[in-house]
Amino acid sequence: MSLPPLVEPAAELTVDEVRRYSRHLIIPDVGMAGQKRLKNAKVLCVGAGGLGSPALLYLAAAGVGTLGVIDFDVVDESNLQRQVIHGQSDVGRLKAESAAASVKEINPLVDVVVHNVALTTDNVMEIFSGYDLIVDGTDNFATRYMVNDAAVLLGKPYVWGSIYRFDGQASVFWAEHGPCYRCLYPEPPPPGMVPSCAEGGVLGVLCASIGSIQVNEAIKLLTGIGEPLVGRLMIYDALEMNYRSVKVRKDPECVLCGKNPTVTQLLDDYEAFCGAVSEEAQEAASGSTITAADLKSLQDAGENIYVIDVREPNEYEIVSIPGAVLIPKGEFINGSALEKLPQDKRIVLHCKSGARSAEVLAIVKNAGFSDAVHVGGGVLSWIKTIDPSLPTY
Ligand SMILES: [Zn+2]
Repeated sequence: MSLPPLVEPAAELTVDEVRRYSRHLIIPDVGMAGQKRLKNAKVLCVGAGGLGSPALLYLAAAGVGTLGVIDFDVVDESNLQRQVIHGQSDVGRLKAESAAASVKEINPLVDVVVHNVALTTDNVMEIFSGYDLIVDGTDNFATRYMVNDAAVLLGKPYVWGSIYRFDGQASVFWAEHGPCYRCLYPEPPPPGMVPSCAEGGVLGVLCASIGSIQVNEAIKLLTGIGEPLVGRLMIYDALEMNYRSVKVRKDPECVLCGKNPTVTQLLDDYEAFCGAVSEEAQEAASGSTITAADLKSLQDAGENIYVIDVREPNEYEIVSIPGAVLIPKGEFINGSALEKLPQDKRIVLHCKSGARSAEVLAIVKNAGFSDAVHVGGGVLSWIKTIDPSLPTY
């Protein structure tokens, strides 16, 4: 299925532009008309992180006339392993600003629009409405569903990508011509079941593999060439080194883009929809959450506690709280951890940020350890408030 170009051509290319884009201009399918369409195009990249980095770099080099970048985060040293749009001297700088500077360096002809804000239900419709196409480089389910819903409600296409360890996926969602993200994934995964890259890691170069597919599809959509990835899901396995594509059909029962939609506006709260923490975990954590400073005081006072780190062994190796014993979350889920727990000590759980330990807390309390607690903010909070010399990740 080929689709008409998303963008009308600009009136003309300048002499500078003809020189710069000559390798595009001599491709018959792109040519002068295609390059003029790119010049007129307005593309928004959601996130200047792993996927946003290669996407922004190549969209800029390709001559997309207006590039929006939305990100509210600052560059951290642990980003540099894959977020190649930022450099060492950008650490501590706003990602959107750092990305805009790199785009300008690659192609000063690009008009960069910096959105140094978090994308929320209050601003997503207004921001998206200023662009022809969205490139989604987000790393969490709440934002993903919000991006999808806003794009469908505005009738705009977007190029989606996701990455984890050695595996990547990409597709183009455009409800007018094919399925949306909800047709593929009607429900967010249960909280805590799908680890993020911050929890499970990601091979840096995987970002380039998936980000480049996203740019490739963006250029095809803008210029109307080739077969866009509408109705197909690309699945990439970097270890096996294979790409396969599977058909994704529009779901006639889709609550958003189906025949009788029940979602006709943005949800009030996407975090709640995706349940950053399950109800059981929230209930268990209520009144049973201590701070990193509380934990330090308990340790210093020689209290009879048993500190358990529920993260994965690799994470424990990078940084751990002194005295904490490693028992990964999976062992609590399959039940094997429970017999390892001392009956005569108070259980104190922690993970990286407090989400996984809250899930485990629910299991532990159910098993009868009613005075168990978990550390809100996890090891990250420990590093921040107790020992900033420890490495973070
Ligand atoms: Zn749908």
